[in-house]
Amino acid sequence: MAVYANPGQPGSVVSFKPRYDHFIGGEYVAPAKGQYFENPTPITGQNFTEVARGTADDVEKALDAAHAAAPAWGKRPPAERADILNKMADRIEANLELVAVAESWENGKACRETLAADIPLAIDHLRYFAGAIRAQEGSLSQVDEDTVAYHFHEPLGVVGQIIPWNFPILMAIWKLAPALAAGNAVVLKPAEQTPVSIHVLMDLVADLLPPGVVNIVNGFGVEAGKPLASNKRISKIAFTGETTTGRLIMQYASENLIPVTLELGGKSPNIFFDDVAAQQDAFYDKALEGFAMFALNQGEVCTCPSRALIQGGMYREFLEQAVKRTEQIKQGNPLDTDTQIGAQASNDQFEKILSYIDIGRQEGAKVLTGGERADLGGELAGGYYIRPTVFEGNNSMRIFQEEIFGPVLSVARFDDYADAMKIANDTLYGLGAGVWSRDATTAYRAGREIQAGRVWVNNYHAYPAHAAFGGYKQSGIGRENHKMMLDHYQQTKNILQSYSPNAL
Ligand code: NAD
Repeated sequence: MAVYANPGQPGSVVSFKPRYDHFIGGEYVAPAKGQYFENPTPITGQNFTEVARGTADDVEKALDAAHAAAPAWGKRPPAERADILNKMADRIEANLELVAVAESWENGKACRETLAADIPLAIDHLRYFAGAIRAQEGSLSQVDEDTVAYHFHEPLGVVGQIIPWNFPILMAIWKLAPALAAGNAVVLKPAEQTPVSIHVLMDLVADLLPPGVVNIVNGFGVEAGKPLASNKRISKIAFTGETTTGRLIMQYASENLIPVTLELGGKSPNIFFDDVAAQQDAFYDKALEGFAMFALNQGEVCTCPSRALIQGGMYREFLEQAVKRTEQIKQGNPLDTDTQIGAQASNDQFEKILSYIDIGRQEGAKVLTGGERADLGGELAGGYYIRPTVFEGNNSMRIFQEEIFGPVLSVARFDDYADAMKIANDTLYGLGAGVWSRDATTAYRAGREIQAGRVWVNNYHAYPAHAAFGGYKQSGIGRENHKMMLDHYQQTKNILQSYSPNAL
């Protein structure tokens, strides 16, 4: 066990600057309007740095830098771009603790996860897309004996990217790695709740990238995000965030007729079939662990398995043991490597989750555990901590239908396979789902029938770079991860060439 020192205290692995400007053209640039906003850590609720409050003028400056850099970057041989992505990965890996602790301090998530998952996954994504771009090939069609259709991949040019606060670095790298590999320059806007950790990362890798290839404009949604997403000088907008914001992003993009990828909200079912309880063995234990995964990342995960559906035959016994497992989740200081659940990312989010807990009670759902804030005392007293909460109710309740984005699970019972599918698909969303069964046929059929872009079978919350990820229904458009992602950041040039010496 280790407990990292708070930033700014002796022995800390990371120290933040008192102020963060925009990162434009390879250097820090003060905001055009000269305004800054305070940035608190959810761990204690105290402000720790201030951040440039971006506006349209700053976005234009960043787009100038990106447009200046894009042509040369797009023409660099793929092997050179891959080399740079690999060097970025190596640099981050060599500074893993620094980046992980910065991420935990700013977001409130447990450092055991940033150390073992968020940052290692980000590193792996850079390496994966370095490999993918080197292996990518164009194609050739033989139209007839003398005519050939060549297909080349070309970058889009300058792209905009807008990031949420729940996995600030991982979400940024999910977007940056394929965009850069494909030869684009980027203007990225982090979430206003977590603007700084990506700057800590950029400080480490900036010298590896030509100036202007990655630009970061901080600020709020309407003030900085909208001028970026609605800008005529971007060739694509990639967005991760709420479904309501996603609709706006698509409207902006439609004005400029540019492609858009949207990774939006979810209300993922996690389905446990009776055969799980055939034996109380390692598989049964794994399923209990899968149930408790709703609390991972404080439940602030788009794919949070926030609806557990348990079959009638084992319902009571499994639920009792699963609640016990939930109560064993260790809550505490996110900088303690023993801590499993840390703080919610912002005060607004903390309040929103508590209000949903009230809604659940008012709807008549039964609280099986949790249902309140966690008062951890000491320096954590001002932080945003909530006890993992399990409700028992039915799928028509708001707590089953609306994304809470916190450590709040809603549990319902189902009778048979058809009933499970009906409840699972009775949602506006279609991002993730879990299926737990010892029977391969049941698991396969359910996996195909659930309307979601990612179905985990007998596991949950794994995010390998080479598995496609994205939403059905109102959970989004397009995919992230996997080499198919390169298609979202490239356009196809076709040259149809005649080698015939004869007249037409
Ligand atoms: P949000 O939509 O409030 O904000 C996301 C980003 O959009 C922020 O950077 C914000 O400043 C910006 N923004 C807000 N209004 C804007 C506007 N009008 N124009 C341009 N930009 C604007 O979402 P959030 O609360 O930060 O993130 C949580 C949401 O993200 C949840 O719904 C979650 O499910 C979703 N999410 C989805 C995925 C996925 O891959 N599908 C991954 C992570 C998070």
